[in-house]
Amino acid sequence: MSEPVLALDIGGTKIAAALVTGGHVGEVCRVATPASQGPEAVVAAAVAVAKEARGESRPVLVGIGSAGVIDSTNGVVTHATDALPGWAGTVLARGVSEGLGLAAYALNDVHAHALGEASFGAGRGLRDVLLVAVGTGVGGAVVHRGEVIFGAHAVAGHLGHIPASEAAGLPCTCGRVGHLEALASGPGLAAALRREGGSAQNGRDVVVQAGQLGAAGEAARAVLTLGGVALGRVIGGLVNTLDPDVVVLAGSVADAGLIWWEAVQDGVRQEAMDAVRGIPLVPAGAGAAAALLGAAHFAMTRHASTTVADDGQGL
Ligand SMILES: [Zn+2]
Repeated sequence: MSEPVLALDIGGTKIAAALVTGGHVGEVCRVATPASQGPEAVVAAAVAVAKEARGESRPVLVGIGSAGVIDSTNGVVTHATDALPGWAGTVLARGVSEGLGLAAYALNDVHAHALGEASFGAGRGLRDVLLVAVGTGVGGAVVHRGEVIFGAHAVAGHLGHIPASEAAGLPCTCGRVGHLEALASGPGLAAALRREGGSAQNGRDVVVQAGQLGAAGEAARAVLTLGGVALGRVIGGLVNTLDPDVVVLAGSVADAGLIWWEAVQDGVRQEAMDAVRGIPLVPAGAGAAAALLGAAHFAMTRHASTTVADDGQGL
């Protein structure tokens, strides 16, 4: 299992690629995502940056984590947001496979991130891991016995789109109203601060202001607390439902500091049943390349279970 695997992480703004060998991520190559040029250009850019990462080595597989809802059985994008126009319908795994001459396997980027954390990061050695990623959006994934729970439509884990009373009335990116993401994401926190008369473009602005004295700092701290408690309450409900060994918090907002972490913990305590109130909440541990690690790991395990089927190609 120590043969090198190429890994790709395709997001709305950038594509990253690296060789992954035995849980170690090599030099990461990056390119801007040509999102406005359409899916064919995005796949071509992914193939090009993967070739750069491959260099002179001879990987045997490529694993792809990508934005959008990905049917990981056949490597097709089934749904995507405006971050990647036209991305839905892209036959991603086959396109990358043909471009590189390697078997390719694809899954959603948050699913890949969770698999990376569960296999090599904060969830290593544990049976059930709930990953919660809080940044531009709020996402998540459940990994059970080393495998991502995809669900019937590959949507499982979208915990940002669970209703939250603190977000009541707020428009969500999915087109519904009152979902957690509308308040607890970075843009959601910034919008909450603006509603209080403050000024913030993103979550980072809120975090910076929360460290300041005076009324502006107080308002920012109140927003971080509100968003953190809302997130924690949703996590508490999920802990009651799934009973994971650990909850791993990742993403840029998870760097917000003690106020936010204590608020999340408070929210969990409000909702978690007695038997699971001690659930550990821990920061991510697999680093910035967790999704690459997870994509490579997914490709290896999926390939091992499908090899010898026909020509050995994933798709
Ligand atoms: Zn939503």
